[in-house]
Amino acid sequence: PPERKSVYRIAQIGADGIGPEVISAGVQVVHAAAEKIGTFSADFTELDWSSDRYKRTGSYVPDDYIEVLKQHDAIFFGAVGAPDVPDHISLWGLRLAICQPYMYANVRRTRILPGTESPLRNCKPGDLDWCIVRENSEGEYAGHGGRSHRGLEHEIGTEVTIFTRTGIKRIARYAFQLAQSRPRKLLTYVTKSNAMRNGMVLWDEVIKEVAKEFPDVTTDFMLVDAMTVRMTLNPRSLDTILATNLHADILSDLAAALAGSIGIAPTANIDPSRTMPSMFEPIHGSAFDITGKGLANPVGTFWSACEMLHWLGEHEAAELIMRATEQACADGVKTRDLGGDAGTAEVTRAVIERINCSS
Ligand code: ATP
Ligand code: MG
Repeated sequence: PPERKSVYRIAQIGADGIGPEVISAGVQVVHAAAEKIGTFSADFTELDWSSDRYKRTGSYVPDDYIEVLKQHDAIFFGAVGAPDVPDHISLWGLRLAICQPYMYANVRRTRILPGTESPLRNCKPGDLDWCIVRENSEGEYAGHGGRSHRGLEHEIGTEVTIFTRTGIKRIARYAFQLAQSRPRKLLTYVTKSNAMRNGMVLWDEVIKEVAKEFPDVTTDFMLVDAMTVRMTLNPRSLDTILATNLHADILSDLAAALAGSIGIAPTANIDPSRTMPSMFEPIHGSAFDITGKGLANPVGTFWSACEMLHWLGEHEAAELIMRATEQACADGVKTRDLGGDAGTAEVTRAVIERINCSS
């Protein structure tokens, strides 16, 4: 008898700006890969959680949104942010409302794709093969703090950074395991413990303890300021990178830019306990300057779809999409941000053709 097909239920949240455009391109590509492989299918549920919903109803998500998400195996997310909503409202209203409670590991890969160019003179396709692990649940983005003396000259705003031994230990273990699974077995961890003498020193201490559990992984340490220099001047010395919520946010934007464009980089927000479905999204934002013009680069979304399929255990489909995407880039089917002249639809068609034609 034929094997039973796996069916994955995926929550599709395009949200704002170019988000819905790149996500619908990503959905087509996942369907194409599923058909080609033939052993699974993806059942997407479109959710209208967005800034439009917020402006209409006062809320980005329904009250029972956690329950709704739990009915899915993964979340495929576009971008949030609108010109007429303050960024901290939209970010906390949707992205952080979903990720913060459960998905403590944020993983951002980079690699220079074939047919694309890095602003770094000596780097070529295949280089900058990095995996940045970002602590995704606490730290500088814990959301604690307050304002007093509002509007007065001596107004004070505090933003309290919270690090916990539990939070550091679990992200460190995740990062070491990831480093261990990669050929170079090299983890560079980043803090700022020379200037921040409490939480950052706790990071250093806990990471050194966890490192003992992974004797086969080479560990090295960088201060975040020096790290930006090393990424730019000595990029081949890096592989897996672990940093706090704020530091990794900044370093991963730098990594994406060094790898050619913010439009190609993927993100995985992982709940390793699988209590919640994990969330996969391109690194870029809503980019209203190009919204509705068919110009958005869908490659970051395709790569995010690969990360999602890997997480679901569909490695063959993930690799099929990645290969097809790299071939399309190598053949020059690229959007403007990569120096090409193709639109979103053309790149999507090119990738689907290459999926269909693959042997
Ligand atoms: P947000 O506020 O949600 O971060 P943003 O408008 O700041 O959104 P970013 O995604 O951070 O936009 O990107 C900055 C610029 O990079 C955009 O304005 C856009 O011109 C370009 N850009 C971003 N993503 C893409 C993409 N997928 N394809 C092409 N260009 C992009
Ligand atoms: Mg932005």
